[in-house]
Amino acid sequence: MKREIFISRGAIQKRVGEIARQISSDYAGTEPVLVGILKGSIFFFTDLVREISIPTKIDFMRACSYGSKMHSSGCVRLTKDIELPVEGRHVIIVEDIVDTGLTLAFIKENLESRGVESVRICSLIDKLERREREVPVDYCGFQVKEGFLVGYGLDCDEEYRYLPEIYLLKE
Ligand code: 5GP
Repeated sequence: MKREIFISRGAIQKRVGEIARQISSDYAGTEPVLVGILKGSIFFFTDLVREISIPTKIDFMRACSYGSKMHSSGCVRLTKDIELPVEGRHVIIVEDIVDTGLTLAFIKENLESRGVESVRICSLIDKLERREREVPVDYCGFQVKEGFLVGYGLDCDEEYRYLPEIYLLKE
């Protein structure tokens, strides 16, 4: 499939730095737990954590939603859980893309049920117009209207994750 560059490495780095500064200021004096959602958020996650200037703890979750690769079915289950205790902690979920919102709504409710102090969502991409479940994206890298994106951790059938920039996939 053809692809065209959509967000450059420089633009990603600049935006990640801005989000990191905002999180560092909002959570000053605390030590939030950053929960990366595997695998798509991995590059964003590692870039973000290293730009945040306050101490953090890190952990990972993996959720699987059934359906075709371009459409989530809404049936979500956890295939990997976090290992750190989060009761009484501030948690920030770090996701690659919020599309329908079904995956993140499930993950957020799951974490909230563990007696956390707070849960916020940080997503590299927000596809605002396709939302089915209301989930607040507290920290958003880029808002995108349409199109299937790959690169910088984002895949299409496990391809393209390794690319350092974000590309728009063309049929
Ligand atoms: P939803 O919010 O619909 O439950 O699902 C979001 C998930 O769908 C994302 O975490 C991502 O895995 C996948 N997804 C949605 N849009 C795209 C896209 O444009 N590119 C890629 N690679 N994955 C996407």
